[in-house]
Amino acid sequence: MLKLRRSDYDSLRRHGEETYPHECCGVLLGQMDGDQRRVTSIARCGNTRNDSPHNRYDIDPKELIRIQREGRERGEDIIGFYHSHPDHPPRWSSTDLVEAHWFGCSYVITAVEEGKAAVTNSFELIGSDEDDKKLLDEKIEVG
Ligand SMILES: [Zn+2]
Repeated sequence: MLKLRRSDYDSLRRHGEETYPHECCGVLLGQMDGDQRRVTSIARCGNTRNDSPHNRYDIDPKELIRIQREGRERGEDIIGFYHSHPDHPPRWSSTDLVEAHWFGCSYVITAVEEGKAAVTNSFELIGSDEDDKKLLDEKIEVG
């Protein structure tokens, strides 16, 4: 299960509205608590893809390293990622699976329909290597 404060949940959904019709992306920081992930802050990222920003996203590795370092200084780990699907369902794409590499992390996807955030879903990346990895539905708890 992924636990988010209302303010962080609203913020990541709003991010998708602000970047519409392009995808937004960002990082979820917090702590693992058994099989629960508790988000304590989120970090917005710039979308570095210029070829097709409306249906692809990428986080600059330098930006990710900085976010990870700053999180550790606050006692937070990277526990997930989020992005938006402008005018597409909130389901992971085959590209999303290929580009997911953080096992045990959450991948949150928000559908943005005509500029308005619609459904937000979360998926957990499970498996042990690139050949057997899967994205499984995960419950989101807000509050
Ligand atoms: Zn996607």
